[in-house]
Amino acid sequence: MSTRKIAIFDTTLRDGEQSPGCSMKLHDKLLVAGNLEALKVDVIEAGFAIASPGDFESVQAIAAQVKGCTVASLARCLKGDIDQAWAAVCKAERPRIHTFLATSPVHMQYKLRMSPEQVLQQAVSMVSYARTLCPDVQFSLEDYTRTEEAFSWRVIEAVIKAGATVVNLPDTVGYAIPEEFGARIRGVMEHVPNVDQATIAVHCHNDLGLAVANTLAALRAGAGQAECTINGIGERAGNAALEEIVMALRTRHDYFSDLTCGVDTTKIMSTSRCVCSVTGSRVQNNKAIVGQNAFAHESGIHQHGMLANRETYEIMTPESIGLTQSQMVLGKHSGKHALKDRLAQLGISLSEDRLQELFTRFKDLADAKKVVTDADIEALARGLEMRPDAQQKLVFDRFLAATGNTNANVSTVRLRVDGQTVEEVAMGSGPIEASFNAINKMLNLHVTIENFSVSAVTANVDAQGECDLRVRHNQRVYLGRGVAQDIIEAAIRAYVHALNGLLEDEQRMTVNAATLAAANVGGGLV
Ligand code: MN
Repeated sequence: MSTRKIAIFDTTLRDGEQSPGCSMKLHDKLLVAGNLEALKVDVIEAGFAIASPGDFESVQAIAAQVKGCTVASLARCLKGDIDQAWAAVCKAERPRIHTFLATSPVHMQYKLRMSPEQVLQQAVSMVSYARTLCPDVQFSLEDYTRTEEAFSWRVIEAVIKAGATVVNLPDTVGYAIPEEFGARIRGVMEHVPNVDQATIAVHCHNDLGLAVANTLAALRAGAGQAECTINGIGERAGNAALEEIVMALRTRHDYFSDLTCGVDTTKIMSTSRCVCSVTGSRVQNNKAIVGQNAFAHESGIHQHGMLANRETYEIMTPESIGLTQSQMVLGKHSGKHALKDRLAQLGISLSEDRLQELFTRFKDLADAKKVVTDADIEALARGLEMRPDAQQKLVFDRFLAATGNTNANVSTVRLRVDGQTVEEVAMGSGPIEASFNAINKMLNLHVTIENFSVSAVTANVDAQGECDLRVRHNQRVYLGRGVAQDIIEAAIRAYVHALNGLLEDEQRMTVNAATLAAANVGGGLV
């Protein structure tokens, strides 16, 4: 049997970013793209170029940075969208335009208000047009699972004839069942006469928890590209998780013996951690492959078996996904090189000035805590502002809170605002609220805070506190993270972090108003 190499198409930066609260900034997206490149995925879907000037800018930056994999931008089936996608990816080593149109009766009738014939024509004409710009064009039949099969075959045949190099059959709403989905893909392979002239792809959502199972069934049935995201993030219940698909193919190579993929699995853990830290959303402890407990053996019987022979209960090794047990404990005597080495193992790369700042905070922490764990270092890195203090509008300086259960809570906070020292005092129902009120007072701000959480980084009483929160302002959401030995300080740092994002955005919005007008976002069909 000949082997087929499956293309791994990662859409963490496009579909993944659409998950609630997962919006990423340019710097974060470049960090994720760098990890995906090291992971050796075949295609990075970098964004939806026409969605906003920020999206355009990040697709363009990723296209310029990434070498060795294809960079795609999503575009609706409209000339203006396709032009914008091409403008964003044209500088890539291997650019791809990914355009889509819905083909299910419910979408065509209610969303598009188009007849099936109109949909077919629009798809053909826009794929042809995209091919005049870019040699690699992917077309997706949105809501394929609920599309009438005979109609889907006609559309697939027509877009391949028009020049589509990849035809994607998404389970947009997460409705498919593995056996049925596999049979439908087999039907495509059998009934579309020119199917051998393009790659068939699948893109499965996890609404019924079947995204990975559906993807694997489709690959067995002849699909050549799997679309997925790191940690399975994405719209609603998310997308098929890249790490689960890849590790299933590898671990069960006996079953998937004719399929291979080029992913370097030892980079899975570092990429997963990177996505967690830039989106601020962690994976559940029992998440397959990358969850905290995925390789933990708790019960006595299992531990006994593991000690006798790891294969008794271990179907894959932690090392195969890059989960190495660190032998060296970091403490107050560790130098910058040891810290840099450990950061590299954790998938964190920092510029020289960021590294220096992290090293200073690491030394402070090592003074207060004897043993600094990987989790501590990751938390410190997550808490770092992405740019040096000198470039931040707001910089935390100090606070003093008077707190207790019998008196009013008062906090005095001092920040540097554009280089000027500003101090305010305010009351609140607790010391954190009092501190936030003080900041609101000095900036004259009215924002909503959501998803406020404070957690301990490690299990001991001397643990660092890590605060995550979201600030909502004018229908936009800004993520804030702060880490400190004191939880009030961690919360203030997180709030300042989020507010810096907000203030930077407001500045950009004024600058970008002209760009937005020039982009001429046309009337939407989909
Ligand atoms: Mn999707």
